Formats: sequence, structure tokens, C-alpha cells
Amino acid sequence: MTQYHVTQLEDYEPLIGRENVERIREKARRFKGLRVANFNSTYYGGGVAEMLSSLTLLWNSLGLRTEWRVIQGTPDFFSITKKMHNALQGAEIDLSSIKQEIFERVIYENSLRNFLEHDFVIVHDPQPLPLIEHYEKKCPWIWRCHLDLSRPDAGTWKYLRLWIDTYDAVILSCKEFVQEMKPPHRVIMPAINPFNIKNRELSDKEIDERLAHYEIPTDLPLVVQISRFDPWKDPKGVVEAFKLASEEVDARLVLLGNFATDDPEGEEIFNSLCACRDDRILILTSGDDTALVNALQTRAAVVLQKSLREGFGLTVAEAMWKSRAVIGGNVGGIRYQIEDGVDGFLVSSNEQAAERIVRLLKDEKLREEIGRKARETVRKKFLLTRYAEEYLDLFDAFDKNFNLRE
Ligand code: UDP
Repeated sequence: MTQYHVTQLEDYEPLIGRENVERIREKARRFKGLRVANFNSTYYGGGVAEMLSSLTLLWNSLGLRTEWRVIQGTPDFFSITKKMHNALQGAEIDLSSIKQEIFERVIYENSLRNFLEHDFVIVHDPQPLPLIEHYEKKCPWIWRCHLDLSRPDAGTWKYLRLWIDTYDAVILSCKEFVQEMKPPHRVIMPAINPFNIKNRELSDKEIDERLAHYEIPTDLPLVVQISRFDPWKDPKGVVEAFKLASEEVDARLVLLGNFATDDPEGEEIFNSLCACRDDRILILTSGDDTALVNALQTRAAVVLQKSLREGFGLTVAEAMWKSRAVIGGNVGGIRYQIEDGVDGFLVSSNEQAAERIVRLLKDEKLREEIGRKARETVRKKFLLTRYAEEYLDLFDAFDKNFNLRE
């Protein structure tokens, strides 16, 4: 049988040092054999799937028995849950009783298919939230919300609290996302796997080959945003900002996106963006090619993540890890990822974004300096080892009655 190398904790030693590796190993030793079930709603596309795929492997390599289960749903169900997702990030929603019934029924059906004999259950985001209702609770249940909850729609929050309030703990990405609820919360910021194909170092030849494959010209500096086609990622604002910047600098914009299986809005947004295409504005949909994502992030002169809401931008951390100067929306988790003017820029308008694009494109030294600091920020704060360790600490903080000790 072929032996594949799966990233081990030791692989991180050159990045985080032996002391950190030893400490995490020691913490994990206490949880050998711990059965952890994770539930989310898509196996690819979006940051949650990206992290779960790496985190579950790392935990398993440390001796925990970690599972990842993806709930199944009808198109109806995902259209409702995407509306809920939008409402939790501040959009208006009309959640009729029939929609509620579809949402709750699909989750009930999923519970019939999933047998649980675990020591911890972690439920990611609102889609699988009501699962908890259908099990006899024999272990702590944690709701891990990855969304930007700074201004949720009050009605949606109230409805979802029916289940949120029955969890033993809630994990959020920023303290600003805390809302009224019964369970205690912890703030844990997401992180990236520096060794997967998306983030490992590529050779120039590999990058050239990927870009050539998708016919992306490299004669001009590349300004890149890589995101699901989602209004919260503000693709229209990106095009606007790029057009403004183009009045002063010569560059090419690449907007690369993909469609998550639990996000039915993407296609429409992609289609509406296609009208903006020209020789300098490329709108591409091959975002499931992770080597292409890596190649674009690595080769970009400037990376944008001009989100209007963002729990945490994995794309921001990915590009910073590649020593890129990132311009991020001044919202949610991005504010904790970028220190404005130091290891990237934070912007609140298209005009501001355009001004930063121009400034960075005109100043290679500035790009390099920011990029160097950006990589160091990610090395210190946003690698998966830190994320895995914070979870171990959380597991450790539960007493036998499933209460979180302070
Ligand atoms: N992504 C990708 N291809 C795309 C768009 C996004 O592989 O075309 C990946 C991206 O590299 C990142 C994740 O999807 O790993 C998006 O995570 P993020 O936290 O930035 O946003 P989310 O989609 O979770 O809101």
C-alpha cells in the first residue's frame, strides 16, 4: 500500500519551535482516543471545510479520534440556510413557517442517519444547529459559529436561540460577535495549514504552469481577490476600486471564485459580474483548483479581501503567509488579522481601496516590507497548531457535568 505523508505536529517545528510542539503534544496526550464529531454543511468551498479538512487530520495524527460529517440537504434547504447565514450577518429575511419546517425537518432526517457515541460534538455554523435537539446529550456539545455576528437580524437570532441556548459552549471568531445567549462563549480565531497545496511554497515553474493553464497573462502586475461569489465579499466593490486605481496604474484584476455546495447564490452573482469582464478584468471560476489559488496568491502584486462582513478571512491569512500585501475590508475578523499600515491595509470604501492599490503598485519596497511582516504575523498567530491547541484547552476546561470552568 502506498504510504502517504500526512502533516504531523513535528512538521511545524521549524515554524513554531520545539517548545511549542512539545507543549501541544503533551496536551494532546491527555486526550488520546477522545472521540470528537464535527458537523458542517459542505465538504468544499469556504473556510469551514478548508479548516476541517486539515484540523481533523492533525487531531487524528495526535491520537484523538476525530470525525467530520457533512449534513445532506435539498436545494430548498440550502437556499433557506444561505438566507439565514445572510441574516446572521445583518441582512433582512422573511423566515416563513414553511421555511422553518423545511430547515428543521432536513436536520431531523440527518439526525436519523448519524449515530453518535462521542466525547465531544462540534457543530459548525447555523445549518446543522438543530441537530442537538434529536440526541440524548451524553457529552458536551459546542456550537462553533464562523460568521460575522456583529449585527445579526434580531428575529433570526431569536429563532436560532431555541437551539443555541441548549449548547454547552459557543465558539466565536471575535469578541465583537458575542450576542445574548445562555451558553458561555470562547473566542478562537481560525488558522491555516501551511503545508497543504494551497499554502506550501510553489516553484516559479509551477506557478507559471498554473497561470498559463488558465490563460492568465503575467505581463502586468496582478491584483487578486479569491472568494466565493458572495455579496459580503463585495466583488462589485473590488471591480469599482480596481477601475478607479486603473486611472493611475497599469495592472490586471483577477477575481477568482468558487461555488460551495451549501451556497446557491454564487451562480447569480458570478453571472452578474461577467458583464464587467474585459482585457484588464478577469472573472474566473476555477477556484477549486487549489494550486491555482496558491499560484495567484503567490504571484499577485496586491491581494484584496474587500469584505463587508467577515468572521475571519482565511484568504487574508493565506495571502499574508505568502508575504503578500493584503488590502482587507475594515470589518469583523479582518481587523484582528491586519494591523493597518503595518502588515497590510484596512479599508472602508472603494476609493480607499483604490488609493491603497495605487500606493502599493507604485512602491515595490513598501510591498516587500509589508509582505515580510505579514508572513511573520501569520507564523505567530494564525497557524493551525495554535488553533488545535486552543481547542484542546477548551476540551480540558469542561467538568464532568459539561460545564465550562473559568
Ligand atoms: N477558496 C478557494 N477557491 C475560491 C474561493 C475561495 O479555494 O475560488 C478558498 C480560500 O482559499 C479559503 C476559503 O475558500 O481557503 C475561503 O475562506 P474564507 O474564510 O476566506 O471565506 P468563507 O468562504 O469561509 O466565507
